[in-house]
Amino acid sequence: LKKVLDGGGSLIIMSHLGRPKGVSHKFSLKHIVPAIEEMLQTKVKFAPDCMSDQASQYAATLQPGEVLLLENLRFYAEEEGKPRNLAPDASEEEIKKAKTTIKESQKRFVKRLASYADCYINDAFGTAHRAHASTALIAQHFENDKMFGYIMKREIEAIDKVLKSPQKPVTAIIGGAKVSSKIAIIERLFDVCDNIIIGGGMVYTFVKAQGGKIGNSLCEEDQLELALATLERAKEKGVNLLFSGEVVAADTFSEEANSTICDAHKIPDGWIGMDAAPSAIKRWEKILESSKTVLWNGPVGVFEMAPFAKGTNRVAEILADITSKGVFTLVGGGDSVAAVTQMGFANRVSYISTGGGAMLEYLQGIELPGIAAIER
Ligand code: AMP
Repeated sequence: LKKVLDGGGSLIIMSHLGRPKGVSHKFSLKHIVPAIEEMLQTKVKFAPDCMSDQASQYAATLQPGEVLLLENLRFYAEEEGKPRNLAPDASEEEIKKAKTTIKESQKRFVKRLASYADCYINDAFGTAHRAHASTALIAQHFENDKMFGYIMKREIEAIDKVLKSPQKPVTAIIGGAKVSSKIAIIERLFDVCDNIIIGGGMVYTFVKAQGGKIGNSLCEEDQLELALATLERAKEKGVNLLFSGEVVAADTFSEEANSTICDAHKIPDGWIGMDAAPSAIKRWEKILESSKTVLWNGPVGVFEMAPFAKGTNRVAEILADITSKGVFTLVGGGDSVAAVTQMGFANRVSYISTGGGAMLEYLQGIELPGIAAIER
C-alpha cells in the first residue's frame, strides 16, 4: 500500500473479512479504517456500498496520495458468484436459473470494480485458490497493468524454494486431522522430499491400515487402502516416511483426561492417540537438524488442548532453532502458523505462509486462479 502511495498513486483497497453470507455489522471493514489511517498516516475514505454512485464518485475523484477503502466484498453474492438465499426446496430448474443470474450479475460487478482503477495488484495469497471476482476475474479487465503485491511474490518464492530448487535434504512434517485432506500433498512431496514426518490424527489411519491397535483414535475407514498404497509408494520412491513411534494417549477427548505414553500401534481399548510423545519428537529432531529445507503443515497433536499441545509446540521450537543454524523453514496452514505465533517464534522461522488452502493447492501443483490471472 505504501509503495503505491509513495510512488504517487492513489489507492483503492478491496478485501474480504470473515465469511459473511450478506451484510453484517461484525464483518464490516469500517472497523479497520482507524487502523489503516494510523498505519498509512493519511485519511481514508470509506465506501459502504462498493456498487453505489458514491463509490464511483470517490474513485473517480481520488487524488494522488489519497486512499479509498471499499466495504467487505463478501457482502455481495457476486464476489463468490454463487446464488444466496435459495429456498431449501428449490427445483433443479430454479437452481440452474439462479446460477445463471448470479454469473451474469457477477460480470457486471467485476466490470464496475475494474472501472474504478487503472491498475490491479493482487496481494491476497490466502484466497488465490478461489476464482472469485476480486481475486481473479477482475484481472481480465487489466491487460498489462496487473501485478502481484510483495506478499504474493514472497509466497511464491518461498514455496518454489521447497518445490523447485530445494537445498537437500528436504523434510516435510505433515500433521492434522485427516489423511483424506493431505494425501494429495503427501504424494506430491514424494518427488521432492527425502523425509516425510507424519503426525497428528492422520497417523492412526496409517497404523490401523497396517494392523495396529488404535483404540478410539481418529480413523478414516474409507482411507485404509489408500494409506497402505501410500506406504508402498514411499518405498518405491525411496522416501523415508516417519510416524510417531510412541504417542500420548488419553482416556477421553478432553483437557482433563488421564494420559499415558504408549506405542502408536498398541493403544489400549477405549484410549485415544492425542499427541506425539517426546521420544518420537527426539527422533524427528535428529532428522530435522540434518535437513537443509523443512516444510511444516498441520499440528502433530490436538494442540487446542494444552496437555496435548506439547508435541506441536516442540516442533515449533525445533524449527526456530534450526532456522538460526541456516535451515530454510517454511510454515503454512492455520494451525501450525498459530502454534509458531503463540510460541513467539513467528520471526524465527524463514517464512510463514499467509495461505492454508492456497498453499496446499499450490504445493500440489494445482494452478491457482489468483496467480494464473496475473501471469496470463
Ligand atoms: P487440519 O485442519 O487437517 O490441518 O487438522 C487440524 C486439526 O487436527 C486440529 O484441530 C487438531 O486438533 C487436529 N488433530 C491433531 N492431532 C489429532 C489427533 N491425534 N486426534 C484428533 N485430532 C487431531
